[in-house]
Formats: sequence, structure tokens, C-alpha cells
Amino acid sequence: MNKILLASSNLYKWKEFSRLLYPNVVVLPPEELRRHFPPESFTSYLENARLKAMALSDVYSGLVVSDDSGLEVNSLKGEPEVRSSRYAGEKANSEENIAKLLRNLQSAKSLDRTARFVCSLVLVKQKKILFETTAFCYGIIATEPKGHGGFGYDSIFIPQGYSLTMAELTEQQKDMISHRGKACQQLKAFLEEKKW
Ligand code: IMP
Repeated sequence: MNKILLASSNLYKWKEFSRLLYPNVVVLPPEELRRHFPPESFTSYLENARLKAMALSDVYSGLVVSDDSGLEVNSLKGEPEVRSSRYAGEKANSEENIAKLLRNLQSAKSLDRTARFVCSLVLVKQKKILFETTAFCYGIIATEPKGHGGFGYDSIFIPQGYSLTMAELTEQQKDMISHRGKACQQLKAFLEEKKW
């Protein structure tokens, strides 16, 4: 498999992609990347992912992969969706985002706690989209955060078929079932076909 430049400045995503696409990932320091990133348009995961990959493709002639992801909670009408990282404000951290989500879920007074993680992934070379996919991981929102692994909303997301939160699973368990893990499995299959 060829080397792929990862268009993400999120350190946690770096770690996951590095595992998922090992040993084919090239990473640039976040500062270098941020210089090239346009602001997210917030309209759709796929558009945001395309925007990031295309921007990096301006300065790197090889393969570039980018993802845009988020959490969707059914009884919150799909929130926080593409605004997942900024749900509680522009500079909000994960704890603040989680607290807002649990508060809103309580106010919604719904027994429905079903949710899904979404990951749109785009592979670009020399500004041409070679492959794109959107993958999901279904589950429910826990009543309180549990576990210390992963990042973002992992500590309140219990994947379908599990009784532990994503943050309580091992990295290997998360990679097997996560939205990003599934998108990367499809990407690897595409790259192995060598029809591009
Ligand atoms: P973005 O794709 O950089 O816009 O960020 C997506 C946001 O969605 C992250 O900052 C997290 O809050 C959330 N998110 C995406 N993927 C995951 C995941 O695997 N676990 C937990 N939270 C996630």
C-alpha cells in the first residue's frame, strides 16, 4: 500500500488512523496542517472531509486521506452532528460537550437514548477524489461518562451489543467496530484492489 498523508490535526484521530492504516500513514505537524485548512462549512460530513483533503492536496502530490465525523442522537433530532466538536461552544472541550449533551437529553424527557457515530472519509490524489465512504457505529448514550480510553464522546457511547462504553473498550475493540474503523477497512480494500 502507498503512503497516505493524513489531513487531520486531531491528535486522537492521528493515533487511530496510524493504527488503522499502519504502516502507511504520513502525518504532518498540526501547525503545518492548520495553515492549509479552510474553515469547516458545517453543511455535511462529506463536504467537510472533501474540503480538508483537497486543501492538503494543494501542497502534497501523493495520496491524502481526511475524515469528518460526529455523533447523532435520535431524541435530540440528530444533534450534535457536524457540530460535535463545538457543541458547547467554539472552544468547548469534550467534558463540556458531554455535559451539554446529557443535560439536553434529560430535558428532552425521552426514553430513546439511541445514537450513532458517523465517519465520512475521502481519499484524494492530485485534487482528484479516488474514493469516499460514510460508515456508522450504532449504540446508546449512557447516563454518565465511564472509562478513560478514546476521545470525544467515547465515555458516554455504548456500542450495540456491548455493556461497556467505547472509552472502556480496548483500542483494538474500538477499531473493530467504530465508524472510523469500518471506513478504514473499506479504504484498505479499495487500495488493495489497485484499480486506481
Ligand atoms: P471533526 O471530525 O474533527 O469535526 O470532529 C468530530 C467530533 O466528533 C470530535 O471532536 C468528537 O467530539 C466527535 N467524534 C468523532 N469521532 C469520535 C469517536 O470516535 N469517538 C468519540 N467522539 C468522536
